[in-house]
Amino acid sequence: MRAGFPAAWLAECARVVAAERERLTALDAAIGDADHGANLDRGFAEVRRALAAAPEADALVTAGTTLIRKVGGASGPLYGSLLRAMGAALGAQASPAEFAAAFTTGVEAVARLGRSAEGDKTMLDALWPAARALTDATGPQAPSGLPAPPGLSGSLEFPEISRLSAAEVFGRAATAARAGAAATVPMLARKGRASYLGERSVGHEDPGAASSALLVGALETVADE
Ligand code: ADP
Ligand code: MG
Ligand code: MG
Repeated sequence: MRAGFPAAWLAECARVVAAERERLTALDAAIGDADHGANLDRGFAEVRRALAAAPEADALVTAGTTLIRKVGGASGPLYGSLLRAMGAALGAQASPAEFAAAFTTGVEAVARLGRSAEGDKTMLDALWPAARALTDATGPQAPSGLPAPPGLSGSLEFPEISRLSAAEVFGRAATAARAGAAATVPMLARKGRASYLGERSVGHEDPGAASSALLVGALETVADE
């Protein structure tokens, strides 16, 4: 992962959140208070400013702190914690596997702060599948050029993993996040504002899961820049 990757990712997040602001707000209008697009667009605009003002600072930590300070809704502290925990876990030169581990650390921070888990119909329903996809796509490669272990035939399939390009790794994560967001539609919300609706939360995509799919999709977009 090149040194400027986090800043490039955050800039793309700001762009895509601005572009999708109305869709995110419409999703939040159905099962929340119709401010998710505005919350994130304002938050990431502040992130842009903060990164421009402090180009030497750790981009992820700066962005996370900014979201926590500037976004009033639940998503600000949650995404802020994701980015801060990722930034704290990530060295300047991370391997793909280290990036996957840092992302997972960030998702764990969201779960801790939100006291929420997969299946609660939140952003975690997109973030956890993305974290797993990143981990799977960057995991330790089976040894090649060595004889198969005794008892295993030559037909054993080793995953192709570390041969994947960054764009392919992030593409898998983005696909997983989008599927995770779509899978929130039939769920009953157990956390956040949508949980106040009970059964009426069923049949709508969770706005935070939708925005998480955008943020993970932004990783793929900047992977090959
Ligand atoms: P608010 O609900 O305060 O208006 P937003 O509309 O910006 O905040 O964000 C709502 C999103 O935040 C939800 O769609 C959900 O994905 C996420 N969210 C809310 N509460 C939690 C929680 N406890 N754990 C994880 N995510 C949550
Ligand atoms: Mg809201
Ligand atoms: Mg709100």
